[in-house]
Amino acid sequence: MTAKSKIRIATTSLAGCFGCHMSFLDMDERLVALLEQVELNRSPFTDIKQCGPCDIGLIEGGVCNAENVHVLRDFRAHCTILIAVGACAINGGVPAMRNYFDLQDCLQEVYLNGTGVTNPQIPSDIELPLLLDKVYPVSEVVPIDYFLPGCPPSADEFLQILEPLLTGHKPELPKSHVHYD
Ligand code: SF4
Repeated sequence: MTAKSKIRIATTSLAGCFGCHMSFLDMDERLVALLEQVELNRSPFTDIKQCGPCDIGLIEGGVCNAENVHVLRDFRAHCTILIAVGACAINGGVPAMRNYFDLQDCLQEVYLNGTGVTNPQIPSDIELPLLLDKVYPVSEVVPIDYFLPGCPPSADEFLQILEPLLTGHKPELPKSHVHYD
């Protein structure tokens, strides 16, 4: 297989903790075999900042700010298959716990009134992405092709969804993998 015929994969973390990316790396030596078939595009693993045309996009994390919306739409535009990876991408996960509260109340608690605050001020800079009112599952912003549950999904589960896709087949996750953590 030539480098040109490799499957191109992009990955990103939106409102996530990078735990799903760390779990991907738990493939350990199996990564070597995977990289014989795969070329990584935009990803924290490559530090490539712009998503080019890709076969598969892996999205970790929910959507909490305007930059997340932009990145997610960019992945949808450039990736043939988009996979929501992990609980945060699928249902908002831990970051979505703020959805139980008003955004302004959250900001005031964290930056003004919370325990240990020494220099109370709510950050406000043009460089900071605008926070959304809530944290949204990625499927509420763009169409998603596959969902890989888990917090994080295990390395085996990554392979179980990727290996069929690499050979043009539809992945079928066993029911035991459809779970909440
Ligand atoms: Fe982190 Fe779990 Fe969310 Fe993945 S699903 S980004 S491991 S909190």
